[in-house]
Amino acid sequence: MLYGAIEAGGTKMVVALVEDTGEIKDKVVIPTSTPEETMPQIIGYLKGKDIKAVGVGSFGPVDVVKGSPTYGCIMNTPKLAWKNYNLVEALETGLGVPVSLDTDVNAACLGEMTYGCAKGIGNVIYVTIGTGIGAGIAVEGKLLHGMMHPEAGHILITKRLADRGQSVCPYHDSCFEGLASGPSIEARWGKKAYELVDNQIVWELESEYIAKGLMNMILTLSPQKIILGGGVMHQEQLFPLIREKVAEVLNHYYDTRELADMDTYIVPASLNDNQGILGAAVLAMNV
Ligand code: ADP
Ligand code: ZN
Repeated sequence: MLYGAIEAGGTKMVVALVEDTGEIKDKVVIPTSTPEETMPQIIGYLKGKDIKAVGVGSFGPVDVVKGSPTYGCIMNTPKLAWKNYNLVEALETGLGVPVSLDTDVNAACLGEMTYGCAKGIGNVIYVTIGTGIGAGIAVEGKLLHGMMHPEAGHILITKRLADRGQSVCPYHDSCFEGLASGPSIEARWGKKAYELVDNQIVWELESEYIAKGLMNMILTLSPQKIILGGGVMHQEQLFPLIREKVAEVLNHYYDTRELADMDTYIVPASLNDNQGILGAAVLAMNV
């Protein structure tokens, strides 16, 4: 059985055909321009492929609450052409198969829980640290939506006193995304993140902010595993620093079996950047 999977991002759409075994049969990348230009290309690719359903992991904010009047719509986005656009309706009309939608980060979390490093674990957080920061959250085996979906990139963290960088978040002057996203690193140091590889101070500060963000999530959600993905996390030297600082900020407030083994508690994404598309396929399988 074949399923359609879409990872809908602000700059590109990854569209794939996935077997129910999790094998990716084929994959294309389509630029995200306007719905009028992009959607016919997605539909054209998936049409006539005998797919049973389509799953979408989307950039947001997006209404993923089934039964809500605006279910399936991209909400408030700086990409104005997509604002209020109903992704689910467009795909269902264009393809005539059921469509299941979740956030890009929830899809990635689901991909890791089904095929990756979080198999068999029910309480998982997938955090992406890239252009923005976002978290997909599973609680007792179910992806968390609540009133819409979590926006854990905007939790407040304390700024280091000596940090002269300004938050790049237009809404908050001391939030996780504002202080630790890729663009915030670039704004603070005046260079592209990958040009700062050898500057230890950069990653020391970055890991401190990531550790603070993670600590808030650990204490609130009690996850059994945390997976870190996104462009910034390609800096693998961050992992040992983050693990050390998370232990430091938690300060043995509580000790669990999971926290005792930081190397398996805080881990990189394990599916070669296919976690989002595979999770989208699982959404389709569960539609
Ligand atoms: P997006 O979040 O737009 O989907 P990414 O997850 O690739 O895309 O994140 C892009 C951000 O990550 C940019 O701000 C970029 O500077 C940063 N980034 C990308 N690759 C690297 C790298 N190898 N090292 C450090 N930062 C990176
Ligand atoms: Zn913010």
